[in-house]
Amino acid sequence: MATVVLGPDTVYRVGKIVCVGQNYLKHISELASKRQEKPVLFLKPSTAVLNEGQKIILPDYSSEVHHETELALLVGKKASRISSENWKAYIRGAGIALDLTLRDLQAIAKERGLPWAIAKGFDGSCPVSGFVPIEAVPDIQTLDIKLYVNGVLKQQGSTRDMIFPVACLLEFITSIFTLEPGDLVLTGTPSGVGPITSGDQLEASITAIGSMTFHVV
Ligand code: MG
Repeated sequence: MATVVLGPDTVYRVGKIVCVGQNYLKHISELASKRQEKPVLFLKPSTAVLNEGQKIILPDYSSEVHHETELALLVGKKASRISSENWKAYIRGAGIALDLTLRDLQAIAKERGLPWAIAKGFDGSCPVSGFVPIEAVPDIQTLDIKLYVNGVLKQQGSTRDMIFPVACLLEFITSIFTLEPGDLVLTGTPSGVGPITSGDQLEASITAIGSMTFHVV
């Protein structure tokens, strides 16, 4: 059973994970993608969750696993068709997530117009930190996001550069999917994505949330 922890000891069973793609301009450019009029959404199953202390296992059916470091939100209250102004009433916590992506398989899926389910939703594709209460984050749109791989800074961005800010994302997402307590929302990655390999140590941090470390087997 996949779980995440809020604060010192409140455990949530994870439901679905709603992810946002292509939400930062520089990341769209680095993948030579096109800016979309509406948020790009995809899902990961709860079995994608990895908690700190668990190791990242690279699937043997891919030869290009990329890191994408993202602000994650923990849903605390059932949310359907909410308005952007009161998103905070439904979000209980903020955390850090890696949206691990099989870039080689995703490229084939994009080319053939096929779903991203395998490239994005494989077992262990969503390492997450502990969550802090949303009240501990003064402004969700001014957070610095960083990822170090083996001590080298690979990703650095700010949530101020989101194309669709959190309030807007939650209004859009809940117009399509009802969010339930324990669901997670991943808000997209800033630029600097790249491959991870066996033996790597990944350390991600976000202002006001903290940091997390994962090792790749
Ligand atoms: Mg992503």
